[in-house]
Amino acid sequence: MQSAIKARFEAVVGANNVIDDPSLFGPYSDDFTDHYVCKPLAVIRPGSTQEVSEIVKICAELDLPIVTQGGNTSLTGGAITSEADKQIILSMTRMKKVTHSDPSSDTMTVEAGMTLAEVHEAAENIGRFFPLSFAAEGNATIGGCAACNAGGVAVLRYGTTRDLILGVEAVLADGRIYNGLRRLRKDNTGYDLKDLFVGSEGTLGIITQVVLKLFPIPKEKETAFVCLDSPEKAVELLAKANASAGSSLTAFELISSAPIERVVKYLPDIEVPQLSESKWKVLIELSLEQKGEESVLMPILESAFESELISDAAIANSIGDSKVFWHVRESIPLADRTAGGSIHSDISLPISKIPGFIEITSQRLLEAYPWLGLSIYGHLGDGNLHFNFVSPEDPKATYHHEEGIRDILYTAVNEFEGSISAEHGIGMLKLEHNYQFKAPLEIELMDRIKEALDPHGILNPGKLLKPKRNY
Ligand SMILES: Cc1cc2nc3c(=O)[nH]c(=O)nc-3n(C[C@H](O)[C@H](O)[C@H](O)COP(=O)(O)OP(=O)(O)OC[C@H]3O[C@@H](n4cnc5c(N)ncnc54)[C@H](O)[C@@H]3O)c2cc1C
Repeated sequence: MQSAIKARFEAVVGANNVIDDPSLFGPYSDDFTDHYVCKPLAVIRPGSTQEVSEIVKICAELDLPIVTQGGNTSLTGGAITSEADKQIILSMTRMKKVTHSDPSSDTMTVEAGMTLAEVHEAAENIGRFFPLSFAAEGNATIGGCAACNAGGVAVLRYGTTRDLILGVEAVLADGRIYNGLRRLRKDNTGYDLKDLFVGSEGTLGIITQVVLKLFPIPKEKETAFVCLDSPEKAVELLAKANASAGSSLTAFELISSAPIERVVKYLPDIEVPQLSESKWKVLIELSLEQKGEESVLMPILESAFESELISDAAIANSIGDSKVFWHVRESIPLADRTAGGSIHSDISLPISKIPGFIEITSQRLLEAYPWLGLSIYGHLGDGNLHFNFVSPEDPKATYHHEEGIRDILYTAVNEFEGSISAEHGIGMLKLEHNYQFKAPLEIELMDRIKEALDPHGILNPGKLLKPKRNY
């Protein structure tokens, strides 16, 4: 980077927070999936909204593209530069303050660079609970979650990130600060601008703070790992659990046997509950606001045994047991990655169509690629599946055939009236497929919104929407 430009950035954030030594780029230039590696011109680490604003003003003046990055846990290449040596990475990881808490209104305002785990702790410190949760919560930032409208394991009860955000502060492409940090549950004064930034993957503005909705800390959890022999039975069990447990049903995770076998094989230190063999398992969790003597989960499981929906169950007797169960579920991405050739998807479908979808899509994929390892699991309770793939014999095979694999998968998703992204977003990975399956009018409307908020296209070019110019 030219020294005069570097000096301008350093004057805003300090010399330690402008990194242009390529040997230090690794954590910012290489993504979690090993698919995307691209060197930025520099990494800039602002410490406040004001600093973000001043950096963006300089970038706008110099026509320098900006890729906002949180924890760099994106699974779609969303947080990596799309062209080498030409784009700035704006790392939000220094912005970690709780700027306001209001336990009696159940809200907390935080800066975008707090990790999800840090947000959980801050909420607990004021006697409240923030429910967004998934395997990467130690690194993923709340700003990144907002930008991707992340989902996770508790959407069934609490909704996606969009449902958990009351207000947003964002720096616009010209450096002005949009202050939408309202703590209101109801506000009908016009278009809901905050919702433009949520799910926009850093293409419309840089989220600097968010107002989060908090909840009472659940007094008790009931967790079980159950065995069943088909996704049809899992859908029936879900209906039964919904009818009996209502809003206490927090998580309902369907897992095929192959990914659990990979956890056993590749991560031998992980404790896996002893259960009889079955093609499918469900991890089910209820969160109860009162400590009661009567179990809510047991009658559901008893009735499921009687009607032969499930064949075996391990029931957590303590928080420790429950953590063991969740650790198995959360270790699947690492086990698949260790196995080799792991590629991900995050599709969503109408719940009733999931059994038919799994059967037909597996058949089509294995006919085309008989060597392919399937890793099917996900948040069945909200219709979201991770239909993932591995190729342990030849880790390059899945990468080599990725386009064809995704074509078969997404064509089936489209036939079954689903979406190619339930929670990870589009990034660079699904850009072409999104154009293939989204209605032209939807793309046109998104293009117009982009044009209105970022007319020169400097915010995260090449992600979500095709760029309208060269950089
Ligand atoms: C093991 C593993 C498990 C996962 N499980 C889930 C899951 O269950 N559910 C789920 O939804 N996701 C999951 N993810 C995906 C990922 O963690 C989420 O997409 C997360 O929301 C990204 O947060 P981040 O801070 O890492 O963002 P990054 O990866 O740094 O960025 C992601 C996108 O957000 C943009 N962005 C980041 N911060 C900001 C900001 N402050 N303002 C504007 N734009 C910004 C970036 O430009 C990029 O487009 C998982 C990832 C891993 C590695």
